[in-house]
Amino acid sequence: MSSINNSGFNTIPVLDLKPEVRHMRHELKQACHHVMEHARFVMGPEVEELEALVAGCMDVRHAVGVNSGTDALLISLRAAGIGEGDEVITTTFTSFATAEAIEMTGARPVFADISPKDCNIDPDAVEAAITPQTKAIVPVHLYGKSADMPRIMEIAEKHDLIVIEDCAQSFGAAWHDHGSKSGQQAGAHPERREAYRGRLTGTFGLAGAFSFFPSKNMGGFGDGGMIITNDDQVAAQAAMLRMHGARKKYHNEVPGYNSRLDTLQASMLQVKMKYFSAFNSRRRSVALRYIDELRDIGSIQLPELPDDGHVYHQFTLQLLEGDRDIFAEYLKCEGIQTAVCYPVPCHQLPLYKDEPWSLPVAERVKDRVISLPIGPFLSENDQDRVIAAVREYLLDVQKELC
Ligand SMILES: *Cc1c(COP(=O)(O)O)cnc(C)c1O
Repeated sequence: MSSINNSGFNTIPVLDLKPEVRHMRHELKQACHHVMEHARFVMGPEVEELEALVAGCMDVRHAVGVNSGTDALLISLRAAGIGEGDEVITTTFTSFATAEAIEMTGARPVFADISPKDCNIDPDAVEAAITPQTKAIVPVHLYGKSADMPRIMEIAEKHDLIVIEDCAQSFGAAWHDHGSKSGQQAGAHPERREAYRGRLTGTFGLAGAFSFFPSKNMGGFGDGGMIITNDDQVAAQAAMLRMHGARKKYHNEVPGYNSRLDTLQASMLQVKMKYFSAFNSRRRSVALRYIDELRDIGSIQLPELPDDGHVYHQFTLQLLEGDRDIFAEYLKCEGIQTAVCYPVPCHQLPLYKDEPWSLPVAERVKDRVISLPIGPFLSENDQDRVIAAVREYLLDVQKELC
């Protein structure tokens, strides 16, 4: 982007992929070179190797590589038998991709409201939305923070519902108890909370769906996705669906998809697998520094601490007073790019205009959230600039826009 802004410095992007790529470039080139040599560009050996790596790192029986995070959701849902006539409860505060995947199975998405604390799906709202048609719950681990899985799994087991986790933003994230002081997790049985502590997202439900879209915390180098599951049947169905509904060539059983993960993509993701844990740690350090430096500002709400499981796919705060868009405009003038996820909750999209949804928390929070620059390679200098600009705007009120 251009360097034309008030600060006279280069614009700090909300996420800068270039230093990450630079950091791994020799290994990435080598990986690509290797694929060029064997030239098995579709379903080459690197796909299975990556699947084994991911399954091992998540400690699950199966991982199935697919074309995108959206397809990972769609194929998991179909592999779990979700389809026409079913209702699937999910959060309204997510990428449309979540709702779209549910729609594409023929099922109906039913939107639940969120917790104002972390913008993740509110388990009480999930329970209230259950009808005789409800077949599944799709929690989303938003911004890299695990949803309240003890409560969600408790509800799912009580009502015999399938859980498919949308982990597009949470590769490597784990559920951690905040303790009972927040009250948030008070509903779940203490033994379950104890058992779930430190458990990775994607391993609670029947399947977990990951995205390798470049901007995700486990971003790749183009589109890609992965399904993880401990269920042999679901894994076999998913592998069949990604390959035109055929377990064996010319033996198509159902209409499926052309949704394989490219060999080149898999080869480069194998390289990223060596680094993602360190990258997540660096994101966490950046986030902790933001929290440290901004915690005295009364007009914002920061992510709750301690949270050792959060991987900070995004660092999102809520502006409790004033106009978020003017704040964002100010930061832009200071050469700081921000993001809003999501300006429109799913239930307010044009697609659902004829449905009478009213989800007040999401409708309030959508005007408050703003994500600051974060990434494994955000320099201390650049972060200082972000912190200074945020403090200046919120405390000094020298709010002259460029
Ligand atoms: C990005 C994203 C998806 C879709 O992943 P793609 O790989 O872009 O298809 C689904 N759900 C959430 C929450 C996401 O952030």
